Formats: sequence, C-alpha cells, structure tokens
Amino acid sequence: MTEPNFSNFQERVVQAAEAVLQRDGSVGPLELMQQMRLLHPVHVEGWRKGNEHYPVLQPWIQVGPEKFQKTIRHFQEWAKQRGLRTIEAAYTRRGPGGLEQLQVTEDGDLEWERFYRTHYAPAGLPEKKAARLAAKLNKPPELVVFEKVSEEGNCAECSTELPRGAFLFMEKGQPLCLPCADLDELVFLPAGDTALTRRARKHSSLAAVVVRFNRARKRYERQGLLVAEEALAKAEEECTADTPARAAARAQAAQARQEEDREFVAELARAISERYPGCPAAEARRIAEHTGRRSSGRVGRSAAGRALEASAVDLAVVAHIRHARTNYDELLMCGTERLDARALVREGIDRVLAEWSGAKFESGA
Ligand SMILES: [Zn+2]
Repeated sequence: MTEPNFSNFQERVVQAAEAVLQRDGSVGPLELMQQMRLLHPVHVEGWRKGNEHYPVLQPWIQVGPEKFQKTIRHFQEWAKQRGLRTIEAAYTRRGPGGLEQLQVTEDGDLEWERFYRTHYAPAGLPEKKAARLAAKLNKPPELVVFEKVSEEGNCAECSTELPRGAFLFMEKGQPLCLPCADLDELVFLPAGDTALTRRARKHSSLAAVVVRFNRARKRYERQGLLVAEEALAKAEEECTADTPARAAARAQAAQARQEEDREFVAELARAISERYPGCPAAEARRIAEHTGRRSSGRVGRSAAGRALEASAVDLAVVAHIRHARTNYDELLMCGTERLDARALVREGIDRVLAEWSGAKFESGA
C-alpha cells in the first residue's frame, strides 16, 4: 500500500458510506466512522446502553483532527452529490427515569449533536419506507440491566455495595441497584427458552434485558430478561400447553425453589399480616413469596433475615402496591420521569396502606 493521498482517502470515505447505505438503508456519521474503523462498535454499544464508561461518545472516535475534518467534508459532499435526503435520528435510551437523550460531544454543542443525528437516505424512498426508517432511527433501545463483571462499586443512590455478579442499572451515567431503579419487582428469566422468553416479555408491562460484558470477545452478551412475576407465570402456563415434558421439569424446579423458601415466606407473610391486617392473605403471601425469591436468590440469607424487619416489610408492601395496584409501570414505560411517576401514584398507595393497616381513611390523618 502506498501513502494514502487526498483522493485515496476520499475514495475510502465514499466506499464506506456507500457500503453502509447499501446495508442499512441509511447512513449517519457514527455508522460511517464504524465502517471506516475510526470508531469501535463496542464503544457505540456501551454508549447506547448507558454503560458508565461512556457518558459521551466523541472521545472514542480514534482519528486526528485533520483526518476527522476531511472525513466529514467528503461525507457531506458525497451525500450532496448523491442527492440524498436527510432523516434525523434520535439517540435516546429508555430508563426508569424516562427517556434520556444521549450526547455524542462533551460540550453538547447543538450543531454538532445535530450533525451526529443526521442520517442520509435515498431521495426517491417511498414515503412509507421513509417513515419506517425514521421510526427505526428514533426507536430507543430496550431497558438494559448490566450484570457486573468488576468487583467494586456502589449504588449511587443508597450506597449498597454492588459486588461482581450483581445486577445494576445505569441512570445518567450512575450505577443504581435494582431497588433504587424500581426494577426489583421483576424476576430474572435466564436466556435459553425462546418461547418462554417471548411470551413473558409480551405479558410484562415492564421488562429489561440483562447483559454481561464478555471481555475476551469484547461484546455484551444477553444473559436473560427481567420480567414481572405474573407475566412469567402466565408465560409458563402457556408453554405448559405446548411442551408437557419441559413444563413438568419447570414445575419441579419451581417446587424445589418454593420448598427451600417456604419457611421464610411463611414468616414474612405473617409479619405482613400483623402489620397490615387489612391486606388480603393471598396478597400478603404473594408479597412474601416475591421477596423471598429475591432474597434467597440474590442477596443471601442474612438479607432475608433483614427482610423481616418492620421497615423492610413496609418497603416490600409499598413496592408491591406501586406495581400491582397503580399504573406506575405504565407511566415508566411511556417515558414518565421516575420521580414524577412516583408522585402521581403516591396518593393511591397511601389509600391502600391506610386500608390495609386497619386505620380509618381520613384526610389529614
Ligand atoms: Zn440503591
């Protein structure tokens, strides 16, 4: 290979742009730079998923200022000569705090941000196809929960330790434990059973994908799905009809799990009923089972013991009411800020609490 001269480099830009346009139906600066190997896909993915190491993307673009300028100039000239139309993409991420705008540049310069969002597509694209493309470019990625691969770290809100293997959620570049992210009502469904996963996701009003970073392969690998417990139960029921043998194995596993936790669950259910005599027994049992599964499966027996304390009982009950008896999940999924959503459902929660604790519901009480 000879030293690349101006026209060679221009050719490289044009070829890369054409290749992406052919493959994706549109091309934006970030796709172009990945195609030209000026930007590694793993950095883009980390940024879009909200990984803490990627608050902004620009520092990961591996090119000197002069070549960067040339790349942009050739790219824009090419788009103009090809008579392409522009479609604006959105770089957002779905979080319990609502939709977050992702920033490419460190200073958030509006013109540069717009430049990075601008995609080019063929001018002659039929309107229907253009609309589909715009929808695709504006679709926020799924809620993502990370399984920790590093040892140290704490929740940014409650300071709970987040050891290796813990699940965490990234909000505005900060790690949150699942209770702080309001995702702890969900149960983990390991990847592997496609039909079950698909059905559970369909039935779950709130769901998050769990990924773990594989250092050797330099990519995020899907570990499973966090879904609502009821959704999982419904999905399991539907799958039972399909495959009796696998369903039997699943039922057996579920039974073993339940037996393990039975004692703790019974104790917790009793504690809930004592504090909240108005809470229907079946519901107290459901709250206890749910907490028990999480406690034994994730944080160990000492945490399960702590779950019997009054404050922990209150937390479990409130979390249950919020998810089961208000439209909180729906508010989150349609992008309401987490704190706004909490405020919106607070009155409803208080009313149920008052009912359950046996106190007469009076205003100002
Ligand atoms: Zn926390």
